[in-house]
Amino acid sequence: MNFSLANDFRHALDRGELSPVFQPVRRLSDGVIAGAEALMRWTHAEHGRIEPAEFIPVSERTGSIHAPGAWMLEQALDSLAAWQRTGAGRSMFVAVNLSVIQLSKSDIVAQCAGVLNAHGIAPECLHLEVTETAPLDHPAAEEGIRALGAAGFRLAMDDFGAGFSSFTHLHRLPFDTLKIDRSFISGLRDNARSRAIVANAVRLAHDLDMTVVAEGVETEQQRAFLQEAGCDLAQGFLLGRPATAAALSRELGG
Ligand code: C2E
Ligand code: MG
Ligand code: MG
Ligand code: MG
Repeated sequence: MNFSLANDFRHALDRGELSPVFQPVRRLSDGVIAGAEALMRWTHAEHGRIEPAEFIPVSERTGSIHAPGAWMLEQALDSLAAWQRTGAGRSMFVAVNLSVIQLSKSDIVAQCAGVLNAHGIAPECLHLEVTETAPLDHPAAEEGIRALGAAGFRLAMDDFGAGFSSFTHLHRLPFDTLKIDRSFISGLRDNARSRAIVANAVRLAHDLDMTVVAEGVETEQQRAFLQEAGCDLAQGFLLGRPATAAALSRELGG
């Protein structure tokens, strides 16, 4: 992303160019929606849609992620409060991605607790996703993760297996949920190694009393394999694309 776009991101929130979308996370045993992951969208006035893969890493480097990140938390809990009012969404969770930069801020627990209280939502309904590819060797981020765990929020290790020190992070940090990276799911059909890794990641997660989620499920074959392997939850285009909060409400029958 060029300098001018990086600079434009600083004003994207004020200009109303950001919006949240939500991708359903379904229980593999029965297909019921257990929760939803909040994902940030940026529609630039001139350049149109810009992908998070482009603007998130830059906004982390420049520190411009903080205000949009806080706003996403608000949006996510607003939407969750609405879903929980519909019968079908009563026990749903919402998952929000947090970058190490956000986790390193000393007020991260107060920030999460504040939005939660304002919405009257239980801490276990807020899942915080931390990407494992991000350098968790930021001591301040590690502290933030521990503090969030101690405060009762659910912590998910995102993109498990795609980073370099998955096991170190699992060993040291209080994660409740493991999200298996999409790259392993896309290999399930043709790659015996992918199948072995996924099946054993599910076992590992369960041995550690963690919930396991598969990301990027696109085919019925993949879904069937994951169900057979005992994977708890899944998300992917097969099970639901990211959509507006209102669209998800309609799906929940609210
Ligand atoms: P992630 O947290 O691993 O999110 C899952 C990504 O996979 C999303 O991409 C989603 O649209 C995409 N996806 C879901 N199902 C499928 C599928 O079946 N096939 C394929 N090919 N893709 C699928 P997205 O929205 O482009 O986000 C990319 C990454 O940007 C996220 O990866 C997350 O790390 C980051 N991100 C997005 N929103 C936020 C945010 O609000 N805050 C922070 N800090 N990071 C965010
Ligand atoms: Mg995520
Ligand atoms: Mg992920
Ligand atoms: Mg991913």
